[in-house]
Amino acid sequence: MFEAQNYIAVQERIASACQRAGRNPAEVTLVGVTKTVAPEDIIAACAHGLKIFGENRVQEAAAKIENLRQKGITPQWHLIGHLQTNKARHAVELFDVIQSVDSARLAEVLQRHAEAGRRMLEVFVEVNTSGESTKFGAAPQDAFHLIREISSYSHLRVMGLMTIGALDPDSSKIRPCFRSLRELAETVTAHHFPNVTMRHLSMGMTNDFEIAIAEGATMVRVGRALFGERH
Ligand SMILES: *Cc1c(COP(=O)(O)O)cnc(C)c1O
Repeated sequence: MFEAQNYIAVQERIASACQRAGRNPAEVTLVGVTKTVAPEDIIAACAHGLKIFGENRVQEAAAKIENLRQKGITPQWHLIGHLQTNKARHAVELFDVIQSVDSARLAEVLQRHAEAGRRMLEVFVEVNTSGESTKFGAAPQDAFHLIREISSYSHLRVMGLMTIGALDPDSSKIRPCFRSLRELAETVTAHHFPNVTMRHLSMGMTNDFEIAIAEGATMVRVGRALFGERH
């Protein structure tokens, strides 16, 4: 369920994390993560000013995107979950940004569908910075090569990197994940690849976005703090 007071509380958490880090809150974009969230709650969040939503699954997202579109409500939609190549065409039709590009094979299929659909597709490369085997994302050294490969594609534009921090209550385990994403972005920037900018570091969720902001996040993906626990 969406409640305005939760939204205000998240904005306040972002603002104080920025203040502690000496950053401007305007540098940090909030993505509302709406997996399992009903369309009415997404509409309420839009009415309060949230403009970008993240979904994990193409199928689930399709129904909601269509529901809102029929009501004339068209926020930005980002895919933040793993994408199988057989759903890539549908994903290119639905999403404004695909944050979860993690393999050369997927990038190649996305390029093909973006070209066929005559659109420039913005993507982030997802990096597995924690090394946890349960997580998707390219290993950091593979991510660099993947970005170089994508830079030659006519219809993909790399706009940043995405990661999920270590699933660990100990912040000393989480922070290095975010730091290594920032350092990878710095390395990529220094190479001046065409069609590649490190405009966004998408990192930080309900439990760890303050740490991510301290390490340079420009986009935080927040679900539970906005919409409550998922059932
Ligand atoms: C679910 C999810 C989030 C949001 O997590 P919360 O803990 O609900 O804030 C962010 N990013 C990804 C990739 C997710 O799957």
